[in-house]
Amino acid sequence: LVSKLPHVGTTIFTVMSKLAAENGAINLSQGFPGFDCSPELVAFAERYLRTGFNQYAPMTGVPALREALAQKTFELYNVAYDPDNEVTITSGATEAIFAAITAVVRPGDEVIVFEPAYDSYVPAIELNGGIPVYVSLTPPDYTVDWQAVSEKITDKTRLILVNTPHNPTGRVWTADDLQQLATLIQERDIWVVSDEVYEHILFDGRVHRSLMTHPLLQERTFVVGSFGKTFHITGWKIGYCLAPKELSTEFRKIHQYLTFSTVTPIQYALADYLKEPEHYLHLSDFYQRKRDLFLDGLRQSRFQFQPAEGSFFQTVSYAAISDEPDYELAVRLTKEIGVASIPVSVFYQQKNDYRILRFCFAKDDAVLQEAAERLSKL
Ligand code: PMP
Ligand code: GLN
Repeated sequence: LVSKLPHVGTTIFTVMSKLAAENGAINLSQGFPGFDCSPELVAFAERYLRTGFNQYAPMTGVPALREALAQKTFELYNVAYDPDNEVTITSGATEAIFAAITAVVRPGDEVIVFEPAYDSYVPAIELNGGIPVYVSLTPPDYTVDWQAVSEKITDKTRLILVNTPHNPTGRVWTADDLQQLATLIQERDIWVVSDEVYEHILFDGRVHRSLMTHPLLQERTFVVGSFGKTFHITGWKIGYCLAPKELSTEFRKIHQYLTFSTVTPIQYALADYLKEPEHYLHLSDFYQRKRDLFLDGLRQSRFQFQPAEGSFFQTVSYAAISDEPDYELAVRLTKEIGVASIPVSVFYQQKNDYRILRFCFAKDDAVLQEAAERLSKL
């Protein structure tokens, strides 16, 4: 069989989590909470599992969840998506990203990708015959160079992939970033996929600038979200896509043949749970405490960093500690000091020597303190 993805190996998240388990290391690599979700949410799920909600959900998602999500979105961002035609429930954000890219990209189309980029974007583009065109975000602040973006736009540019708050850098887009993007695409046939899975995790008083809040961008954008990040249920694999009707119609044509529909009892449980804003409005405070606890510990170390602006990831430079390539260092630290991280070079296509590791701080406090202590001995 001739590989359709010859450059792709096993995703770094699987590789590093396996290595962490084999070595009994603290796993700050793959991004998932080290604690459980709310018992109330489990009780809702259990209720629906026990009372006969175990067959296929409607292809687009159960109406109660689409309605609750449209309501929450309206309250938070003042944008009205029609639950029947513009809200689709998916099997995680991963599926939504793949379906949205597939809905837009044809062979030969160019897609602007900011790197470092979450690792599922480029394979999805390439499987659709698209050509990724890279714009680098560089440490330490990873801001978008809009001049560089405009230089990469051609008649073939069909899509731009946005991710705010950003994985792995934690960078958060500003209102100016939204305006710059809108100005660039307004006269062109360019669509946007906006990966906003960390929409509820922002620090130091920042606000999430969803692309839907800019009227021109709203018309062009597939906004992707994940309940996994917001409710500590990454294992439930449930996300969604919000997009204007014309875009959602094409999105649903793909979704119906990728997965058809998404797990039924969980959708009903989330519909109930979403109705209470208390269930997600404190997530930023919750994670800011954890970020600060981890960074307080790391201040004793020789790692250098700027505090993450959002997400549950912190990137650090190890330039003062080692000149090893980041993958080798990440493997060595897992084995020798028992702390697993993600080498950030895997999220870049263009080779660089930035020497950055990513740590996930969605863990119990004692685990974060222990990890920071071990890292401070380097
Ligand atoms: N996008 C980003 C930026 C992510 O970090 C993740 C996963 N952590 C996803 C998408 C995938 O989300 P899901 O688990 O809902 O598929
Ligand atoms: N999004 C998570 C991360 O960035 C991992 C998701 C996955 O393992 N596919 O670590």
